[in-house]
Amino acid sequence: MAELGDGTKCVHGGHGDPRPGDPLAPGPVFAAPYHLGDPQGDFYGRAGNPSWRALEAAIGELDGGECVLLPSGMAAISAVLRAVLHHGDRLLVPSDGYYATRQFVREELAELSLDVREIPTTGPWPEDVFDGVRLVLLETPSNPGLDVCDIAELARRAHRAGALLAVDNTTATPIGQRPLELGADIALASDTKALTGHSDVLLGHVSTADGELAQRLRRARTLSGAIPGPFETWLAHRSLGTLDLRLARQATNAAALVDALRGHPAVTGLRWPGLPDDPAHRLASAQMRRWGGVFRFELADADAVAEFVRRSALVVAATSFGGLHSTVDRRAQWGDPVAPGFVRFSAGCEDPADLVADVLAALP
Ligand SMILES: *Cc1c(COP(=O)(O)O)cnc(C)c1O
Repeated sequence: MAELGDGTKCVHGGHGDPRPGDPLAPGPVFAAPYHLGDPQGDFYGRAGNPSWRALEAAIGELDGGECVLLPSGMAAISAVLRAVLHHGDRLLVPSDGYYATRQFVREELAELSLDVREIPTTGPWPEDVFDGVRLVLLETPSNPGLDVCDIAELARRAHRAGALLAVDNTTATPIGQRPLELGADIALASDTKALTGHSDVLLGHVSTADGELAQRLRRARTLSGAIPGPFETWLAHRSLGTLDLRLARQATNAAALVDALRGHPAVTGLRWPGLPDDPAHRLASAQMRRWGGVFRFELADADAVAEFVRRSALVVAATSFGGLHSTVDRRAQWGDPVAPGFVRFSAGCEDPADLVADVLAALP
């Protein structure tokens, strides 16, 4: 059979070969110990269980690598940093990416005395930028700025210098971008966002084609004890089935909203990689497989954003993105280095006409 499409993989991924009498949608397996006696079988839930294996198979297939599930996006990021970095190593992280990543490196990895370099997603990436670097972490499109960098080109350069390259693929999701195919060693994500998309679960994962690294991450997960619960895993697997549909509607809504906001007198700094004249569009078109529902813009100040949310009937203030509900997050309140009126808008799955009418009515 020809390679299946992403929508088909989202629906069928990880469900295995059906047997008569099996449920179409198996539930989570709640078990701490298992009956012993099968050397290949499960023995204790912290080391492995059927709920993880099913979702890891599904996400791994989409990512094109071996997937290790972790209890949150930060758990995925911290697991990779801890698995790869040694005392005194040089680490490159985006200066404009998810803020908790930089905080984790600064506070929790302080004892490693890392040489941490911060680079904006759009560079510049000087000739010698990868010299002596152990690990490069990219985030593209970046959160919250939605800037984009060239994964394939930076992977080539990082590898030439002997560095490993990891990509935080949260904003794109595994069906929006395949970092491993573009040359990255590691794709990781917060699945709390669009991958699960119902604002009811925290989860993360790491995918890699390096079996030895996957093994190390599994071992660290077992020994650290920070594991995803089977119910969260099952919720995520259930939600994955509609990822293709949800992203399609979110992108349709983002396109409609961006179109309505262009040229609006109260709106500046409108950015969405799907916009043909967006600075990130050319590169994003080349390496992304589809657009998501997150865009950004600026209103005059913090009060203007609060007033916008107050006047809107459909858009709620919340600090996450990629869910069914349209949400706005004023990023400056969390310490992101952006203007006070900077809004990250996550288009949900409402009807496009309703959203556009609501947003236009709520703007000054
Ligand atoms: C939210 C987010 C994270 C952290 O994920 P959690 O599931 O909240 O731990 C990491 N990276 C990016 C880009 C994110 O948006």
